[in-house]
Amino acid sequence: GCNLVKVYQNGIEELKVLDNINIRVNNSDFIAILGPSGSGKSTLMNILGCLDVPTSGQYYIDGLDVLKASDNELAEIRNKKIGFIFQKFNLLPRLTAVQNVMLPLLYRGVEEEEARELAREKLTILGLGERLQHRPNELSGGQQQRVAIARAIVGNPQLLLADEPTGNLDSKSSEDAMEIFKELNRQGNTIVLITHDIEVAEQVKKVVTIRDGRIHESH
Ligand code: ATP
Ligand code: MG
Repeated sequence: GCNLVKVYQNGIEELKVLDNINIRVNNSDFIAILGPSGSGKSTLMNILGCLDVPTSGQYYIDGLDVLKASDNELAEIRNKKIGFIFQKFNLLPRLTAVQNVMLPLLYRGVEEEEARELAREKLTILGLGERLQHRPNELSGGQQQRVAIARAIVGNPQLLLADEPTGNLDSKSSEDAMEIFKELNRQGNTIVLITHDIEVAEQVKKVVTIRDGRIHESH
């Protein structure tokens, strides 16, 4: 993304949340985005994930100009190439854990039984083998977060966008999740991980710090 600017409009008030952000994500990168609350991290993730469009600037994903792409093209990218872990999980409340994790596979046309099996497998790896049939409100925050992680990685997405994916986890679960992300990255998947946690960021190859909507330092 080049010169990305995002202005939110609330009535007559304008809030410039991203101010000329330049970020390049290469294949197989593992990037951590670090920054204080309100600095624009989730907004940037939504733009990188083609869930939102910048107010100005350019964004290309695999050569496709996102600002000129059709809704269908964007939906295709989101469904086939990107896995999302949302800060607030965004699990569907009426679906069980296993059904939530099956969803991205069903979107891609995977047959139901196979999807169920893959979903069970991922949830079990994440320590939720005994919670497959629970609905989100029957799970703890950390368990919901692990369901969200399972859902994001079950389809082996080319790009994983993870917004505070360990924010609700105890240190053991957090380490387990980081090991899963590192293994995915070793296999060539690209990961952008938003975090407040310096310990998490220290384990990642490249760290981008954002402050007041601007990139502060990048190394
Ligand atoms: P946190 O670490 O607390 O999750 P963040 O870095 O993810 O923060 P954002 O969620 O990107 O921050 O929000 C950046 C700024 O934009 C905040 O001031 C927020 O209030 C504002 N904002 C976010 N979404 C909207 C929206 N849809 N409409 C208006 N303002 C918004
Ligand atoms: Mg956020």
